[in-house]
Amino acid sequence: MPKSISHELYRRLPQLGECLERADVRPLLARYPRAVVLNGVRAVIAELRERIAAEAMHEREIDAAILTLPASAQRWIEEHERPSLRRVINATGVILQTNLGRAPLSESAVEQIVSVARGYCNLEFDLQSGHRGQRGAEVERLLLQALELEGGEHAALIVNNCAAATFLALNTVAEGGEVIVSRGELVEIGGGFRVPEILRKSGATLREVGTTNRTRIEDYAAAIGAETRAILRVHRSNFAIVGFTEEAPLNELVALGREAAVPVIDDQGTGCMVALDEYELPRQHSLRDSMQAGATIVCASGDKLLGGPQCGLVVGHAGSIKNLRQNPLYRALRVDKLTYAALEATLRAYTSGVPETIPAIRMLAMDADEIRARCEACVDALSAAESVTAHVVACESVVGGGTTPGTALPSFAVALGHADFSEDEFAAALRALDPPVIGRVGDGRVLLDLRTVFAEDDSLLIAQLREAIESLHTKRAR
Ligand SMILES: *Cc1c(COP(=O)(O)O)cnc(C)c1O
Repeated sequence: MPKSISHELYRRLPQLGECLERADVRPLLARYPRAVVLNGVRAVIAELRERIAAEAMHEREIDAAILTLPASAQRWIEEHERPSLRRVINATGVILQTNLGRAPLSESAVEQIVSVARGYCNLEFDLQSGHRGQRGAEVERLLLQALELEGGEHAALIVNNCAAATFLALNTVAEGGEVIVSRGELVEIGGGFRVPEILRKSGATLREVGTTNRTRIEDYAAAIGAETRAILRVHRSNFAIVGFTEEAPLNELVALGREAAVPVIDDQGTGCMVALDEYELPRQHSLRDSMQAGATIVCASGDKLLGGPQCGLVVGHAGSIKNLRQNPLYRALRVDKLTYAALEATLRAYTSGVPETIPAIRMLAMDADEIRARCEACVDALSAAESVTAHVVACESVVGGGTTPGTALPSFAVALGHADFSEDEFAAALRALDPPVIGRVGDGRVLLDLRTVFAEDDSLLIAQLREAIESLHTKRAR
């Protein structure tokens, strides 16, 4: 195209100021800040310039694009101004999926967060005396109550996550000394939490005992010396050692520690407060079990099986917890008001005997037949779509979050396939939705396990699936 002609085309493009004066841009200005609208309009015009430069536009097309400029600007704004952290529909069947934010919060936890976030709160203020109060005191008390522990003898502390809890405990108890750990527990928990590294950073020296598969109480006993500051037990979390194995039970470690006046730190991890066998899962060492076994300090996550916000729970003998609280590092690891708000509401679900108001617990308890019925309803609603296959298949959900390695819950999924698109392309179309739908991919299909989809979101899910199928249809037509 000769230069003069392209120049002519550029001249058809409106000025920025002119665009903002347009009557059909006014609704945008009413909805978004002026600077945002400006950015949107500028981006649309810039794109038109590029297309003119690439000789991909003629007069008529330019005029048409200018006519629909408000709609284009709105699309740009919606795409660029939406939060980067967004809600997704988890159809993976992994209840505590770390990549998807682990535990969804209960309604009451969400309400508490909103009420505290919107204004001021009594975070460190005693409403009775009118003086400064202790941050988190009520939540700590509630945690002890949920564990049926006596205050006075025991105490609790809340930090940022379980990694922080273990780090603070090790630094407080063992800096400059030795910590005895079984070789079978020198694990990486995921997200780069490696027991030997966190231990070194806490200022303690690792004293490994036993072998990968077998560690006996005698191994620990033989390692205790003048430099020993603690015995650390770590829940193995994301894998299981099976076969020829042996490990020292926590109560034996506690007895040994007592004899040698060495504290026992238990990185319990899961924060489990319910009896898993009631949910047809293998029974597992709970937070209460750790305390009852007599561990000096127990550390756990708030957003795994407890079903609360990200945080680390530390429970233990009052004297030890006091030392942790006085460690200057605690100041760097403490949590904010929103975490306390959500954790308090979560703990109340346990003390009030309604743990199933917590979504993670409700999902554990969900009956497979009920999930099958929901899958069937979903498949029925989709059956009209051509080129798409949708079936109900049996599958297995997992608890996830490194809580119950090697175990699964029987479940059902909607298996989706497309005649013209691969399962990866189908899954990508589901991820492109708003809210995105995240499924499992395999065997030429996308599997949507409805255990982790909130039942009240089923109709939304169906609408989303229809939209994804429609978008694939459009893509094929192009
Ligand atoms: C999950 C886990 C951790 C890490 O917990 P975060 O809350 O993610 O920091 C540490 N130890 C054990 C045993 C765990 O299971």
